[in-house]
Parts: sequence; C-alpha cells; structure tokens
Amino acid sequence: MKKLHNLIFLGMIVGVAVGILLWWFKRGAIEAGQPTPGWVETSMWWLDLLGPTVFMGALKMIIAPLILASIVAGVTSLPSVQELGSIGWKTLLYYIGTTTVAVALGLIFVLVLQPGERAGSQKVRESRVAELTERRAEYSASQGQAALDAQGKPTGEYLAWLNQREGSAASAGSDARKFAQLAGAEERSAGDVFKDDIVRPLLTNPFTSLAASPPNALGIIFFGLLLGIACAVIGHETAGPVIRFFQGLNAVMMKITGWMMSIAPVAIGCIMAKLVAENGPEIFESLGWYCATVVGGIAVHVAFLFGVAATLGGTDPIRLWRGVREAWMIAFTTRSSAATLPVTIENVTRKLGVSPKVANFSLPLGATMNMDGTALYEGVAVIFLIQTYGGLDDVSIGLTAISTFTIFITAVLASVGAAAVPNAGLVTMVLVASAVHLPIYYIPLIFAVDAVLDMFRTSTNVLGDSVGAVVVNRLERGKLG
Ligand code: ASP
Repeated sequence: MKKLHNLIFLGMIVGVAVGILLWWFKRGAIEAGQPTPGWVETSMWWLDLLGPTVFMGALKMIIAPLILASIVAGVTSLPSVQELGSIGWKTLLYYIGTTTVAVALGLIFVLVLQPGERAGSQKVRESRVAELTERRAEYSASQGQAALDAQGKPTGEYLAWLNQREGSAASAGSDARKFAQLAGAEERSAGDVFKDDIVRPLLTNPFTSLAASPPNALGIIFFGLLLGIACAVIGHETAGPVIRFFQGLNAVMMKITGWMMSIAPVAIGCIMAKLVAENGPEIFESLGWYCATVVGGIAVHVAFLFGVAATLGGTDPIRLWRGVREAWMIAFTTRSSAATLPVTIENVTRKLGVSPKVANFSLPLGATMNMDGTALYEGVAVIFLIQTYGGLDDVSIGLTAISTFTIFITAVLASVGAAAVPNAGLVTMVLVASAVHLPIYYIPLIFAVDAVLDMFRTSTNVLGDSVGAVVVNRLERGKLG
C-alpha cells in the first residue's frame, strides 16, 4: 500500500475542485431560474455510485464479521485471560481520560470564543426574537389568553403550545427526516440512555447484532469477548477449531480490506465532490465562528493526542502521522469510525507495530465507545445554541456552573452512546440539549454544517482510538509473549 496516502490526498483535492465546479454550475442555473443541467445531475449520480454506494458500502459490508473475528482472535491469542483484564482496564482508563480532556477543551473554547455572541449568530437571534413576537400574538388570538403573565414571563400554557407548534413546524420543514430522528431521541433521561443504548444492545442475539444495519457493535463485541474467553478457558484441545476459524477469518477480512483500499483514492474523491457540490461554501456564512470553535478545539485536542502518543506511547509525531494517515483520511471522508475500522486495524498493526493482540481488542471497542471528537463537539454545539438563543421565551436557561457541568457529563455519555456512523453525534446531542432544557427544535440551526464538522470529529475519534492502542501496547509490552 505504498504511496496510497498520497493518492488518497490527491483524490480529496480533486474531489473538492470537481465539487466546487458542479456546485457553481448548479447555483448558476438556480439563479437564472432554470433547472439544474442534466449533466450535473448525471455526474452527481455517478459520484454517489462510486463513493458512498460502492466504497462505503464495501467497507460497511465487512465490519460486522471483522469486529467479531478480530475480538475473538485478539482474546484467544493472549497468553492468559488475566492479560485481557490488564489490557481492558488500561484501555478504559485511557478512554475516560482522553474523552474528559476533549469535552473540557471544547467547553474552554466555546466559553472563551463565544461563537453564539458573534454578529452572524446575533442576526439569527434577532430574527428568532421577531418570530417569537409573532407567535405570542398568534397564541393570544387563537387561545384567547395572554402569552405572558403579570411579571412579563411566558405562561406554562403558552410554552406548551409553542413547543407543540415549533415541533410540528420543524417536522414538516426541509430537514424533516433529520428532525424526526432528534424527536425520537427526546425525553430520555441519562438512565434510559444507559439502559437502552448500552445494556440492552450488549445482550442481543448475536445474529441479530451482526445482521442489523448499522451492526450492533456493542453486542458483537460483548458476544465476541464471551466467545473468546470461553475458548481460552476450555483450552486449545477442545476449542481449537473455533479459535482457528476466527483467527483465519480475521486474516481473511484484513486481506479484503487491502483490496478495497486500492479503489480508495477515486472513491474518496467522489465522496468529497458530492459533499461539496451539494452544500457549497455558503453554509459557513452565519456559522463561521461556530465551525472555527469546533475545529480550533479539535486541533488542540489532536495536539494533545500526539503528545500522549509521544510520552506514554513512545511514538513520535512523525511516526504516528505516517502510521495513521490513511485511516485518518478515510475517516475524514467517510465520516464513520466503523467504516474506517478495517483500515485503522491495518495501519496500527502494520505501520505502528502495535501487537494484534492489543489492536484486535481495543480498536473495535474504541470505534464504538471512544469518540473524543464527538464528545468535544457535543459540548460546543449545545453551549453555542444557548449563547445564541438563551433568554428567549422558550430557552429559559442561562450558562451557570451547574448547567455547564450537566453539559460536561452528558456530552461524555452522548459520545459513548453515539453510533460510529455519519451524523450520529447530532442525534445523541438531544440527550445533552434535553438535560439542560434546550428545546430540540433549535438544533436544526446547525444541521447545515454538521457534515463538515463530522469529518473533523470522526478523524479525531479514529486518531484517539489509534493512540489508545499505541499507549496500551507500550504499557503491556513484555507481557504479550
Ligand atoms: N461520525 C462519527 C463517527 O463515526 C460519529 C459522530 O457523528 O460524531 O465516529
């Protein structure tokens, strides 16, 4: 796979250029009041076929068997079951530590830069204020009562009416499908999320977990661990065929990954071109500061991860970057840690010299549970929305120490609960928003830039997992046989 990273990088650049060109023709037609030219539509169809449909489809095709095979192969290749415990707790400690740092960095960035107080957001706020004035009048006219009480505070009845009205307006708007996902996730406490998104998936029929789309990674990991531990306890004599089957399957999956990667440069170019052609650069206008805050926080967190790799993992920044750059680029474009997983395992074991005994266990777990970029983003996004809309009729919360701490904790939880697929962080953000009583119909404000920010957070998620494997590998060296 020599020089593949250069080709992938070239694919990204060409993709952006093609995307801008298509977007430019599309916008020209819209401005002239004409339909989008046929050749632009056809190009978009081809880009969709080669990028998301074929390449991402192929990666997604193998993640379910790959996760199962790699966990069983990882566990059964360890010298003892005790070794699994030692790798396990070190991995978890690393995840908790780095995710906490990520959220803290995000909060510092958003509180210092205050993207919600900038001109672009304040314009958004002003138009919302005007809208709410109309809503009050509408409420008084239709319900025959005032929207505000004697102290000038919105009444409970008015707020309930407003919530209903805005919720149904958002469900009928242009982002109806995305909003429906948010609405479905509303009204769940942290306990419910723990029960439904963590405990329940663990105990699912493994065949259902493997067949689900996206696969139920937690369930597969848990079943794989049980299978692997049971094999290790029973011993090679009886469980030998099972162990060899999964170790063979794991090697075969890695071979298939290698084949798929050969089309990565073209496919990645197509994914980028389609994304840029659909959105264009205009989306940054009112949300530029918000995007800069997320990306700034992520940049510092990436530097932190490089520091961790150098100090705890004994891997200098250049070596780390050379080792993970393919996975990083794939994550950046596919926006899915799960789809990137085969490449992450390949990169970390072959280029960074991490023992497959550690990587096969920790990387699938990390792709599912350890999302530094997502955690950072969740905190920034909710505080940004509070800065923009705080104090309006239906956003009574301000940023107190308690609400900031609540955001801190729920952002960590939301990142653990997020599936490793595109836009997942946006859906679990509902948990954070609901915890501080921010109505979820405000979240669509950031829909437009979510895809771009997803690129930064997913690539950081994958980097965090890779550094975790490097660190644990170093701490375990000598014990792995
Ligand atoms: N797309 C991210 C991932 O797969 C999750 C997110 O939406 O933040 O890692």
